[in-house]
Amino acid sequence: MKATLTVLGSGTSMGVPTIGCQCAVCRSEDPRDRRTRPSILIEYGGKVVLIDTTPDFRQQAIRENMRSLDAVFYTHAHADHILGLDDLRPLSFRRRPYKIPLYATPEATETIRRMFCYIFEAKYKFGGLAQVELKPLDGPVELFEAVFEPVKVLHGDLEIVGYRFGLAA
Ligand SMILES: [Zn+2]
Ligand SMILES: [Zn+2]
Repeated sequence: MKATLTVLGSGTSMGVPTIGCQCAVCRSEDPRDRRTRPSILIEYGGKVVLIDTTPDFRQQAIRENMRSLDAVFYTHAHADHILGLDDLRPLSFRRRPYKIPLYATPEATETIRRMFCYIFEAKYKFGGLAQVELKPLDGPVELFEAVFEPVKVLHGDLEIVGYRFGLAA
């Protein structure tokens, strides 16, 4: 199956340039030195899958002219990988009544649920919530006739997951 993989961002957790930094890279005029937070977009068979939702997700989605989204896989629940979750709203509203599945390890799922409690707690009384649902991972996920296989990775002392998808990882 043919798939397109787009690197939405490849910057560090603080992004490049970094706020207040006066180093040569952060002051550079070269567009390659403007790097948003890390995320990947995968498109295949008319479906769109995202790896992580960074604080730069809105900017990345507008830049790439994203019009739909079918699933998100999270590598881990650090701020630079999850804080764009709320900006899934416009893409999620178009899919009603279907919610966008968010795949993450059971540990990351709990952190995301806590950080975005207003989305996942039924007592929240206001409308306009992201139409998403958490799906704790317990192995490879078959999605739209492709398989996403979680691959354990050590991030310092923290065990997180990368994803293998076809010949890419
Ligand atoms: Zn710098
Ligand atoms: Zn991290």
